[in-house]
Amino acid sequence: MRYFREKDALPIALACGVLLMLGWFTLTIAQLEQNSTQAESDLTQASVPVLMYHHLLPQDALTGMFADNNVAVSVEQFTQDIATLKAQGYHTISLRQLDDFVQGKEELPGKCVVITFDDGYLSNKIYAMPVLREAGYTAVIFALTGWIEEHPQEFRAAGLQYLSWPEIKEMKDTFQFASHTDNLHELSWNGKGKLTTVSEGELTEDVARSVKKLQGTQYFSYPYGHYNDIAKRVLAQEGIQLAFTVEPVNVRAGDDPLTLGRWDMYQYSIEDVLAQRRQ
Ligand SMILES: [Zn+2]
Repeated sequence: MRYFREKDALPIALACGVLLMLGWFTLTIAQLEQNSTQAESDLTQASVPVLMYHHLLPQDALTGMFADNNVAVSVEQFTQDIATLKAQGYHTISLRQLDDFVQGKEELPGKCVVITFDDGYLSNKIYAMPVLREAGYTAVIFALTGWIEEHPQEFRAAGLQYLSWPEIKEMKDTFQFASHTDNLHELSWNGKGKLTTVSEGELTEDVARSVKKLQGTQYFSYPYGHYNDIAKRVLAQEGIQLAFTVEPVNVRAGDDPLTLGRWDMYQYSIEDVLAQRRQ
């Protein structure tokens, strides 16, 4: 069966050619626009993603209490996240630089990211440190200082060990250490972090103790991301400049420095997070 006669072929071919040209032109313009938007945001980043991890274990060790547990991300996933950041030209910045950015004092050139770990697990040293060093990256550990050990512990994948003070000293070229309270990492009867239910006096003592053990820090992350106005006031009084929640949003200039967002990397993929950059 013939769908069109031969003498119709030329006008049809011409019409197709014109349509193709128009299509190509439109696509090219769209591409140019996209490229220029990307070039602009590469020069000055509008917002900074802050990534949050906790414990790391090899995929085949994510069994028992660590199977589908949001405290643990696989070493393989972490390594891939870092490789993706590296391949896309991201560099890590310190919390001091992030502080300047939030206050509008500093524009951040290029693509910046902050990598954080909560609690202070030994697995951060065993698995994260070599990957970060290889990439030339730095990260932050928000340590639950009351749980940090006096002496290094033996690593056992079946348990959950904390870092020790001598190890923390040795890790300072890769990690900046900050506070995750001294000993307020519990949920209260109402399902809220203990930090929001203890008295103001008890909270002040806990934060002061944690800051002192770290020989002074201006940075803090709220256990479970729970906070209230009293907690913010206490942190400010104790000299904390930046405090992090678990709200999944990038950090922007002008944000409230005591309620900055972070991306839980158990829940979100690195692709999800980086897609937020231009928003
Ligand atoms: Zn925690």
